[in-house]
Amino acid sequence: MKEKKIGFFGTGLMGYPMAERLFRLGYNIEVYNRTYEKTGGLQKLGIKAHSNPAELISEAEIIISMLADFNAIRQTLLNENAKLFNGKTLLQMSTVGVKENIEIEKTVRENGGRFLEAPVLGSIPQVKEGTLIIMTGGEKELHEELKPLLDDLGEKVVYAGGTGKAAAMKLSLNQLIASLTAAFSTSLGLVREHGVDVDLFMDILRNSALYAPTFDKKLNRMLERNFENPNFPLKHLLKDVNLILNETGQAGIKSEVVQSVKEIVQRGLAMGLDEEDYSSLYNAVHIPKKI
Ligand code: NAP
Repeated sequence: MKEKKIGFFGTGLMGYPMAERLFRLGYNIEVYNRTYEKTGGLQKLGIKAHSNPAELISEAEIIISMLADFNAIRQTLLNENAKLFNGKTLLQMSTVGVKENIEIEKTVRENGGRFLEAPVLGSIPQVKEGTLIIMTGGEKELHEELKPLLDDLGEKVVYAGGTGKAAAMKLSLNQLIASLTAAFSTSLGLVREHGVDVDLFMDILRNSALYAPTFDKKLNRMLERNFENPNFPLKHLLKDVNLILNETGQAGIKSEVVQSVKEIVQRGLAMGLDEEDYSSLYNAVHIPKKI
């Protein structure tokens, strides 16, 4: 596996450390990023960076996508570059919709390539530690073939079934990320406005059935209203909430909770929180008072 050339697309917040990790583990990896300058640090490590996606697709055997969304994948890998996928494998790790992954697979297969979706749960620290949770969807044989590579990125790699199943699972999990963060923000705001001791509140919460570890992960950021250096920026949460609403709509699942979360996310974006950590939802729920 390590001798096969990997073309890694999208060296953003997640892609950069993923590419670095694979390189350090001895993989034969080269990268492409729309903003070429952002690959400078990887180049210093000795990783070749391409400014032309077609060139890297042509040279690589396995193409990994950690691009932002379906649109970025379409513009970079598909369109006129789709024909270059003959004999290649696309390992699609970005978070996109169920139908989007099915459409990407169709295009890749029509052009003679193979496809596996592999969205991830976890963020930059988990990439660095190699402890992502990775869900795959597609052909079981391809999952087995790529598992050694995925095992080097994650501590748990699970096969969900046919294409779209992993995307559905990932979006279901992200629905919880969004809703739990909004719900916790509301309760934290309430206890603070009433002058309740936050330590006491957290102690009760931690010892109850209502607790989720994400609350403690985001507590300090919320208390300090410090959302700099995001692991997952708020703008991507809007992308995911829209994907979730699309899926719930098609599945006939009522979505008032997600609709409300979307309103909160949109208010956060209007407050200029796009590039801040998604826990800045707190500021859109418990709005800071003007001094
Ligand atoms: P990010 O930092 O915003 O990086 C996005 C990447 O996509 C960058 O390489 C960006 O290139 C590229 N891109 C965006 N629009 C493009 C376009 N139209 N054409 C070509 N390239 C384009 O995002 P990220 O946090 O790494 O997330 C990447 C994917 O992983 C997303 O699908 C996200 O939902 C998913 N994910 C993220 C996390 C997390 O904690 N961050 C966790 C799990 C899953 P430029 O550098 O040129 O802008």
